[in-house]
Amino acid sequence: MDTVLAIDLGGSSLRAALMERDGRIVASAMRRHRLGEEADADGWWAMLVAAVAELPQSPVKAIIASGFTRSQVLVDGAGDPVRPAQCFADTRATAEAAELTGASRGTWVEMTPFHPAARLRWARAHDPDAFARARHVLQPKDFLVLRLTGRRASDRISNAWALERRGNVRALALFRRAQLDAALLPELFDPWDIVGPCTGLAGYEGVPVMCGAMDTWCASLGAGASQPGDAYLIAGTTDAGGVLSDAPAETEGLVTLPWGIGLFHTGGPSGAGGDCLQWLAEVLGQPDVGTVVASAEGAVANGNPLLFLPALSGERAPSWAATSRGSFAGLDRSHGAAELARAVMEGVAFADRDLLAGLPFDRLFLGGGGARSDLWCQMRADLLGCQVVRSSEQPGLVGAALVAWAGLGAYPTLSAAQAALSERAEVFWPDWTVIARYQRLFEVFKQLQAAAATLAHGLSRF
Ligand code: ADP
Repeated sequence: MDTVLAIDLGGSSLRAALMERDGRIVASAMRRHRLGEEADADGWWAMLVAAVAELPQSPVKAIIASGFTRSQVLVDGAGDPVRPAQCFADTRATAEAAELTGASRGTWVEMTPFHPAARLRWARAHDPDAFARARHVLQPKDFLVLRLTGRRASDRISNAWALERRGNVRALALFRRAQLDAALLPELFDPWDIVGPCTGLAGYEGVPVMCGAMDTWCASLGAGASQPGDAYLIAGTTDAGGVLSDAPAETEGLVTLPWGIGLFHTGGPSGAGGDCLQWLAEVLGQPDVGTVVASAEGAVANGNPLLFLPALSGERAPSWAATSRGSFAGLDRSHGAAELARAVMEGVAFADRDLLAGLPFDRLFLGGGGARSDLWCQMRADLLGCQVVRSSEQPGLVGAALVAWAGLGAYPTLSAAQAALSERAEVFWPDWTVIARYQRLFEVFKQLQAAAATLAHGLSRF
């Protein structure tokens, strides 16, 4: 059976899978990594080569990669990195972002220390020799495509920061103001465009390599979001979510982007997610997250309230309170390990509500490892007050594969490929008997969030 080789370079792992036309995963392999402010891009390539070596021989029609963004890989004329990649957690370009305040007006991405223009100026100021050798700035998955094909390419969705909202002067003005050469951007493609034949991966020579796209784009498609009013949530190590609309729906703290399929997207990454449960499993000495989830299922659901603020690594969208930290509030003698587990799951779901509240949507597609738990799916339905459709545990891979199959012409449109490949396993409906309690608890959660940000400021001075 023909397959495509789908690759998902995530913030905590790289996955590679051979996937058939109907989305069936024939074989897959994974490598874990930990990202800091910087990373060795060649390490991602080594992970890909090692993962692919585990896969069986299969007739492969195309290769496509999905990957994390808000990261920069600077490569020289020979395609080699000139310095370590700047990853999404890198906040060092604060001064550069301040210098460029207002420069991104009229383009799609707000000026912050995560903005590529601020990051590039930081690299030029702190590593001038390396920067002088740089010819192109790539996204992490583009670096894999470069190693696969020898060509420098990126997709239009990940590079929305360099596109204008109207007219054609704003983005160029941004480059000028940042004193950056627009030629640093590689050629831009649609995700399904073929960049070139594979030349760099043994056993896959000559297979067409597609451009691919950023992970949230692929994952939202793979989870099933396809129409205005659809929301998606990828419950992974950290959660990421957003809403699709037919006109830009700007909301403070979230990113609005043209989604390349006639729609706009508003959303962002939460600082909270499955990692909070992983942390609790380690603290409680439990063998795995599944055991903690099982204990949460036995907790008293409406006993004395216990709130968990899941800011173990600070908060990201929508508050961007990077220095905030987590806490439990309301602890008393009645709470045991099971109640702690339930509170952690609820806390992550409160953060999901915080991310998506205020956006107009009718249903939520929920994918990723965190969607494995019925209890957690139900909490999201109750807290968001909408139907939750559980989809794939691997929405990024599914999204990449469906784009590849549509690009190969196996489906007439992207939506036809989406309908065929994205799983819509079960629907969780809000339980109206608990919604009022959750509404009141969410108000206290918001107070806890504000108080914790203030307390964290004091604690950070130690
Ligand atoms: P990533 O792609 O970010 O590596 P995954 O989609 O693999 O993440 O999801 C990983 C998360 O899934 C873990 O942080 C873990 O907390 C969560 N998880 C694992 N098993 C379960 C389970 N049985 N129920 C709920 N969540 C789970």
